[in-house]
Amino acid sequence: MDHDEAAQLLGAFALRALEDDENAQVIAHLESCAWCQVEATRYERVLSILRDTVEPDDAA
Ligand SMILES: [Zn+2]
Repeated sequence: MDHDEAAQLLGAFALRALEDDENAQVIAHLESCAWCQVEATRYERVLSILRDTVEPDDAA
C-alpha cells in the first residue's frame, strides 16, 4: 500500500471500519511513515473527543 492509499484510509482505520487485510496494510504503512502516524493519532484524538461529547449523561 502506498502513502496516498494509506492516507485515504486513515479515517476508516481510526473508526475500526476497515477489512482485516486493509487494516493490516495500514498498520504496516504506519510503521514506516511518520506523517501517517501523526494523522492517525489526530483521528484517534478527534474520535475520542466525539465519543466523550456524544456520551449520554442520562444513562438511566
Ligand atoms: Zn503515509
